[in-house]
Amino acid sequence: MLFEGLAHKLQETLRKLKGKGKLSEADVKQAMREVKLALLEADVNFKVVKDFINSVTERAVGQEVMMSLTPGQQVIKVVNEALTELMGKTKTDINISSKDLTVLMLVGLQGSGKTTTAGKLANYLKKQGHSPLLVAGDIYRPAAIKQLQIIGEKAEIPVFAMGDKNKPVNIIKRSLEFARSKGLNIVIIDTAGRLHINDELMEELKEIKLEVEPDEILLVVDAMTGQDAVNIAQTFNYQLSLDGVILTKLDGDTRGGAALSIKAVTNCPIKFIGVGEKLEDIEPFHPDRMASRILGMGDVLTLIEKAQVNIDLEKAKEFEKRLKNQQFTFEDFLEQLQYVKEMGPISHIMEMIPGFNSGKLKGLNVDDKELVKIEAIINSMTKQERMDPSIINGSRRKRIARGSGTKVQDVNRLLKQFFQTKKIIKQFGEMEKGYKKRKFPF
Ligand code: GDP
Repeated sequence: MLFEGLAHKLQETLRKLKGKGKLSEADVKQAMREVKLALLEADVNFKVVKDFINSVTERAVGQEVMMSLTPGQQVIKVVNEALTELMGKTKTDINISSKDLTVLMLVGLQGSGKTTTAGKLANYLKKQGHSPLLVAGDIYRPAAIKQLQIIGEKAEIPVFAMGDKNKPVNIIKRSLEFARSKGLNIVIIDTAGRLHINDELMEELKEIKLEVEPDEILLVVDAMTGQDAVNIAQTFNYQLSLDGVILTKLDGDTRGGAALSIKAVTNCPIKFIGVGEKLEDIEPFHPDRMASRILGMGDVLTLIEKAQVNIDLEKAKEFEKRLKNQQFTFEDFLEQLQYVKEMGPISHIMEMIPGFNSGKLKGLNVDDKELVKIEAIINSMTKQERMDPSIINGSRRKRIARGSGTKVQDVNRLLKQFFQTKKIIKQFGEMEKGYKKRKFPF
């Protein structure tokens, strides 16, 4: 889970403050020592930590906070604001021209996730109503062109490639003509990486920059490399003047040091984050929402946005109607489960729910395996059983457990949860009816 250690420690420290009716300067200083350690352990750049602590301490021991009725909560607010500022304050969008072709050039080292990100970004922009073209400009890594073509096919996005015999800059120039002739409005260039930064790489990228004049140069960098990612960003920015950073593999980065340091060190905004290997695993980077996630306040807005992308509105309305009429069955359950699965790994979803990133709830053990189990159990039911689970007696339970490779206890648990949910929905329904029947609300 992203920021796992940091989130846990910060929340513990701040919780202690929250309970106090009055705060002394010593209380704040003690808390800031703990925050400092937590940030350093999360691999945040040393200088960034120092500035952060100074700024938070100054604000937290100020009159406004100390004299307020809820000083503990005010300190949390100050930390939240400072974390948000650290990561760039507000979301920074890609500048897409409304008139002309927008050219986005992705740069980065080999293995950082450049090719995958090119596909994810194209897919994301396509869903926003744009018509992107992917350009295979990495002619050195043997599999890169094929990889991009496979991604393009999957996302139904055109890919422009000219093999590996032409100079990248020529390929890219031709791709722009191609995009214009086809009426496409965004070109995303996958450039070549190297294992390490070297002159040859930089010269090639500079030549492309000079001749193609991309609208944005975006660095793709692997969050799991921590402070290395920050150093790489600094070098690329110095050589190419970056417009933004896309931080990949945040799903595998439990510390979060790069996410917290890049903007402060390089002044380049993080524009997107990669949170998995699939095409959909990309999110615009919102500093404020990320700060809330770190402090255990959740990120309900991203969750809602994800749900909106995945949910078929017509079907959702139908489902709501069935819920109201208490016709909720295991068929519905299965369908809802598919939506949840499409939204990404369950652990990632949980992170966005307020309170769930605190580490205290780790024992809850809701994971993707659990979802697979539930799905297997429902799939082992007959259609009749799914529509009317009340007929599932002892022998049917045994058969379902055998069929789904689970235990009878698992089947029992799922049925119990199902009936409880149904009961709650019924109570809600009755409450609503009762309320409507009353002529006056008071
Ligand atoms: P390139 O050499 O920079 O083009 O890197 P690739 O696009 O081939 O990616 C290298 C590896 O990182 C591949 O196995 C990708 O699936 C993986 N990868 C890329 N982005 C992410 C991400 O956000 N999360 C995870 N878990 N893996 C990623």
